Amino acid sequence: MKIPKRRCHHCHQWFQPDPRVASSQKYCSHAQCRRESRLASHRQWWSKNGRETDAARASKHILWTNETHYWATYRSKNTDYVIRDNARRRRAHHTARRAANQDMSRKISVDKLHEVLDLGVDNAANQDTIHRQIKGMVHYLLWKEGAANQDITDLTTTLT
Ligand SMILES: [Zn+2]
Repeated sequence: MKIPKRRCHHCHQWFQPDPRVASSQKYCSHAQCRRESRLASHRQWWSKNGRETDAARASKHILWTNETHYWATYRSKNTDYVIRDNARRRRAHHTARRAANQDMSRKISVDKLHEVLDLGVDNAANQDTIHRQIKGMVHYLLWKEGAANQDITDLTTTLT
């Protein structure tokens, strides 16, 4: 029995259905139409099952997050992991703190050097000004030596 031709739902051209899938074939064999067919069946599947699928995923997710204290349980059973993880956290914390300290230290350095420069701005270069600038530089260098070993909270003393 010969299967009558149909119009493709996408390109609207007549096509000869494949006898194996003739009962449901709505699209011809052009690449673009096969693609459209696939998308349409996905859309159909989702409109039929999407709600249930989403609900199933959501309830699975709730189950997962409710699973009693997953990380606490995991950590209590894996002491090696805890030791490594704590060390990693400590390292990360120190790295971040060191970077912040370096930034702050750099900024204070620049401020202090500007203070030294400013000593000479208003006055003509006389011995007194030069003296104070040298003194300021020595203060700065001493501060910098100390700053390398200090916490950032102690770095705010000014040159006088
Ligand atoms: Zn087509």
